Amino acid sequence: MPTAERQANIKIVLVNTAHPGNIGGAARAMKNMGLAQLCLVQPREYPAPRAVWRAAGARDVLKNATVANSVDEAIADCSLVIGTSARERRIPWPLINPRQCGERIWAEAESHKVALLFGREDRGLTNDELQKCHYHVHIPSNPEYSSLNLATAVQVLAYEIRMASLADPQGNLPDLGEWDQPPVTAEDLENFHSHLAETMAKLDFYDPENPKQLLTRMRRLFNRLRMDKMEVSILRGLLSAVQRKIK
Ligand code: SAH
Repeated sequence: MPTAERQANIKIVLVNTAHPGNIGGAARAMKNMGLAQLCLVQPREYPAPRAVWRAAGARDVLKNATVANSVDEAIADCSLVIGTSARERRIPWPLINPRQCGERIWAEAESHKVALLFGREDRGLTNDELQKCHYHVHIPSNPEYSSLNLATAVQVLAYEIRMASLADPQGNLPDLGEWDQPPVTAEDLENFHSHLAETMAKLDFYDPENPKQLLTRMRRLFNRLRMDKMEVSILRGLLSAVQRKIK
């Protein structure tokens, strides 16, 4: 697949950004590194002249940016979702470094859409949002002052995608191997998780009033598997069969 088509499969998602200057800065960082798909989830102030001003020569990226109402909507068509994190979280999640992140995104963008999520300036991504991700990526900054400016974090990770693309001019490295089924999208996976939670609740295996960390652990488990569409539809068939039996 030509480089431009692969780049078009890479979506940079900014969640609930407060400062329009950061949106413009992110657009510029993206265009400098050859990326163009920007998605804004509930930006707090947008459109805004400051965003245009900071975007400089990347106004086209800003103009083509899509606005979404939720993270689910933004990532619905993506089969790989990576979330950025400025610090450690309570439940450990598969963690990769920026280099691995660039390589993985570039490799997977060959065959499907991928999303890289960036959080709010003041409190990053919520746990719910982070749990929708297959991997978390942390820029190994100074632990005593670990949080980068949002647009700067976009720059660092976009640069790593750029480096991965330059290391792979033919668009065929690293090899992902052949698979007979397309990977599941975030939307199908989300529907599967609702179905699973509903079935577990009907079985009294899961108490929605006292959820503990069951659903989080289920999300982590199934995100690690990287299921394909067929596998998810088999599991949904199984859940439906269980529900019919206990009715
Ligand atoms: N106080 C917030 C910091 C958010 S910084 C927190 O503790 O989460 C705003 C966004 O910039 C983050 O959500 C993330 O998308 C990105 N970012 C900042 N520093 C980063 C780092 N060291 N590694 C990865 N992403 C980072």
